[in-house]
Amino acid sequence: MAFELSEEFVKKIPKTDIHVHLDGSLRLGTLIELAKAQDIELPSFTEAGLRETVFKDHYSDLGDYLRGFAYTTSVLQDAESLERVAYELALDNFEEGVRYVEIRFAPQLHVHSGLPMDQVLTAVNKGLARAKREINSRPSITCDVEPRFEYGVIVCALRMFQKNFSAYYRQLLGVHRYTPARSCYSLASLELARSAVNLRDSLGLPIVGFDLAGQEDGYPAIDHAEAYAYAHKHFLMRTVHAGEAYGPESIFQAITSLHADRVGHGYHLFSPHRIQFGDEEEKAHYAANLAQYIADRRITIEVCLTSNLQTMPELQRKELAYHNFRHMLSTKLSVSLCTDNRLVSNTTVTKEILKAVSHFNLKPRTLRHVVIYGFKRSFFPGSYIEKRNYVRQIIDYYEKVEALYRASSELHHGGSAAS
Ligand SMILES: [Zn+2]
Repeated sequence: MAFELSEEFVKKIPKTDIHVHLDGSLRLGTLIELAKAQDIELPSFTEAGLRETVFKDHYSDLGDYLRGFAYTTSVLQDAESLERVAYELALDNFEEGVRYVEIRFAPQLHVHSGLPMDQVLTAVNKGLARAKREINSRPSITCDVEPRFEYGVIVCALRMFQKNFSAYYRQLLGVHRYTPARSCYSLASLELARSAVNLRDSLGLPIVGFDLAGQEDGYPAIDHAEAYAYAHKHFLMRTVHAGEAYGPESIFQAITSLHADRVGHGYHLFSPHRIQFGDEEEKAHYAANLAQYIADRRITIEVCLTSNLQTMPELQRKELAYHNFRHMLSTKLSVSLCTDNRLVSNTTVTKEILKAVSHFNLKPRTLRHVVIYGFKRSFFPGSYIEKRNYVRQIIDYYEKVEALYRASSELHHGGSAAS
């Protein structure tokens, strides 16, 4: 019996967001409040004004999209603000039924003489842990009626920015175009991998993954191979923003040279014309083989539909139905729907799922697979046994919610519509 994948249903099912940036997901009201308290200039101090000038529904290009981060990161230069936005982000996720979230950010952009790396990560973890404590003390969770809320933290190395915040800020706003030597990026990312492993092991922080973010074009992932090798060697899981600007080869590089367990976006996996070698037939052959390899290895693609639509010029002119997500589904890749940036993309996990349902005609069974993959392929901060038990509980709860909706739909339709 088919039933409608309504907004109410999507909110009820347990969900993940395994690709969400802390600094792209503030509450707008909080950004304004923090900016006022810290005397930081914003283009507007009203939510409507900021929606009109910075955090828009449509962006002209990636640069336009990234501009908002200059403001969000500038208010996140102290421990209290970091803790607050992390806390609020966890609550906002849970409010729409997200039970597991992996929050990522580049801690080096919040480090300065008064705020060392350990304090940045501790502050973010403090906010997330507080939210988790509050959420998990609700009676429906303590009585095991509903699954608990869990989280992990992913640290992001940056492809193109300097580790210094003020240079990053000026670069985002187009004031400064200084480009350091490539070796600076490699060193900075290795330093970050070392700190992440050290803080995970010495302070017990739930740092579960290592990522590479920032503008892809002109800044190949291979420059960060040493940092990824370090993460790999110390069992820190790996994801890479890849396949946004470059074609399938960059995804191959991410999963082979960088040992990526997951790929952020991976959009151009299905864009053989972007391959640098061979004739058309060879390109198509390579792209198909790569997709098979990724599918077979269950390397998960973190899909961010709205964000892609906003930052990719070739998609902006088309309908969302043209997004390569359709090929990801038809080749049975392991995919998870994510927000990327709740504020900058003005989205939620529920909205992303509803978009997928309406533009790609997702059926309940496919949706269940996609949602459960988020949990299965998460970088869960516990033992494998704990993860398995958690995922089992999630699946049971999902099926319970689904059965309820199916039964009520049957009742409504007199049990006649079979599918
Ligand atoms: Zn991202």
